Amino acid sequence: MPAITVDDILVLPRVPAPDVTQTERKVTSVTTAPRGFEGEGFPVRRAFAGVDLARLDPFIHMDQMGEVDYGPGEPKGTPWHPHRGFETVTYIIDGTFKHQDSNGGGGLITNGDTQWMTAGAGLLHIEAPPEELVVSGGLFHGFQLWVNLPSRLKMTPPRYQDIRAGQVALLSSADGGALLRVIAGSFGGYDGPGVTHTPIALVHATVSAGAQVRLPWPADFNALAYVLSGQGFVGPARRPVKMGQLAVFGPGDAITFEADGSGSRQDMDILLLGGQPIREPVAAYGPFVMNTRAELAQAFEDYQAGRLGSIPALPADPHPGHDVL
Ligand code: MN
Repeated sequence: MPAITVDDILVLPRVPAPDVTQTERKVTSVTTAPRGFEGEGFPVRRAFAGVDLARLDPFIHMDQMGEVDYGPGEPKGTPWHPHRGFETVTYIIDGTFKHQDSNGGGGLITNGDTQWMTAGAGLLHIEAPPEELVVSGGLFHGFQLWVNLPSRLKMTPPRYQDIRAGQVALLSSADGGALLRVIAGSFGGYDGPGVTHTPIALVHATVSAGAQVRLPWPADFNALAYVLSGQGFVGPARRPVKMGQLAVFGPGDAITFEADGSGSRQDMDILLLGGQPIREPVAAYGPFVMNTRAELAQAFEDYQAGRLGSIPALPADPHPGHDVL
């Protein structure tokens, strides 16, 4: 898993463990992501399937893309498609994905990079493996998270944030048992590079086999943990979790987890997500996330009328800073 890593975790700033006044969050559910296919047929796990939207708020949807080891000619992407009313966050752990949108955003996302695309009022989007990867095949593993926007920001102008792996804030848990990569928002007093419209924390944690981790977590955020690889335990009752499972935490201001230290002694990688719930009605269909059915109908009408943008004539520049003829 070549997302950014470090040789010596002990040199990193440490997130203090919660003190005795802080309340450990109980785990309210553990669900297993069903497998499916997205776009032109790349394999995904639907991380949030079976969980009530109110528990996910401000998040809407998350796909684990892969992990898949493609043969030559097998890598797939999506055709051009519209979005309105929310943000897509794409984090690539292994391999490369090329994005382009009709607002001028896009580029290559690879090995620990994140693309944070605010669709807002609307745009067209394409996500595809680069041609050389289609030819060669290879490992592909990442995530796409959908973050909702409140009604006052649904029609905000589109915005694109290109977050390189090296910009991610690297932290250690209090005793060095976990490497914490803050991708966006604020966590443990440190800011990640991703700028969010509403308060959110997005952290990729690698937990050493056998390590127990206790972290502070804002009381006004929800708390979700998705296991990317390995297995372990979550919450005070030590609920078992493994790759492809999502744990939802209840109220409190601290979260706990532990990587299984028996057997193969594999590290456990988890994606920690939390944010302030938006608490508005959600009308979601396909690529649009709005507040009402009337707004959804308007989004389809605007898309069909070409008001969400048009497909650019030139392909995305895969090497920003160089001229494209
Ligand atoms: Mn898209």
